[in-house]
Amino acid sequence: MYSLIRTQKGPTAIYFENNFYRLQKQNKNGTKRWVCTNRSCSCSLLIKDERLQIVRGQHNHTNEKPSLSIIQTIDNLRQTVCSNVSKPITQIYNEILSTYRQNNGTAELVPMFDMLRSTLYRDRATVLPKLPHSLHRLILPNVFIKNLYNENMLFCDKKRPSRILGFASITAIKQLDLPDELQKESVKRQLANILSLPLLPINKIIAAFHDAADSLVIINRNFQTFVDYVEKTYITSPKFNPVNWNHYNTLSNRPRTNNQ
Ligand SMILES: [Zn+2]
Repeated sequence: MYSLIRTQKGPTAIYFENNFYRLQKQNKNGTKRWVCTNRSCSCSLLIKDERLQIVRGQHNHTNEKPSLSIIQTIDNLRQTVCSNVSKPITQIYNEILSTYRQNNGTAELVPMFDMLRSTLYRDRATVLPKLPHSLHRLILPNVFIKNLYNENMLFCDKKRPSRILGFASITAIKQLDLPDELQKESVKRQLANILSLPLLPINKIIAAFHDAADSLVIINRNFQTFVDYVEKTYITSPKFNPVNWNHYNTLSNRPRTNNQ
């Protein structure tokens, strides 16, 4: 595979197997011919839709072979990109290159990030799935759909008009012994209030939670287990406290109101 060396104006050169190529011509059928930057050399690459189609010729010159330490550094980069997936690729590049320069000085030309970019991102893509561009493209792996008892947890996956995911286990709902109550509009309203807590300003959350919780327990004492669970997990827990799940400040199109 080749790497494009980009400037702000777009790709200006291609690096492929230790040689550089410049764009010679673009054909009407969509293919592009890149020729070796060594003027006396007739080697060329034919590329269509960013895929290398044909490699022509043998180079009649020696190329700038990188030293063993550079090859090892690039190899280290490629491995680190896959083993340390939570670290940004540019940061890994900068750290490894700065260590290399400290140990080897700055005399030797080191490949610029742009030359390695596509290789490193492709390497990382082999261990990480692609980020979805929209909620519709979000794929839920099986491990997130089942619970530890291998019971289905995803009971709702509505695609349109907006993606809505709902998770609950049927066994847990049955244990609450509240199927009749769940049909009541007043219960549905209070449950919706609890589910909407992330949308409230953070200083209103605790009061709103207690209002909804009290209403539910008054309707049926069996709601106490559910209310206690929500309180323990999302209100008082230092791990998932409201600061972590509050979305009030990330809502971009909030209905405007004069009420303060
Ligand atoms: Zn050549």
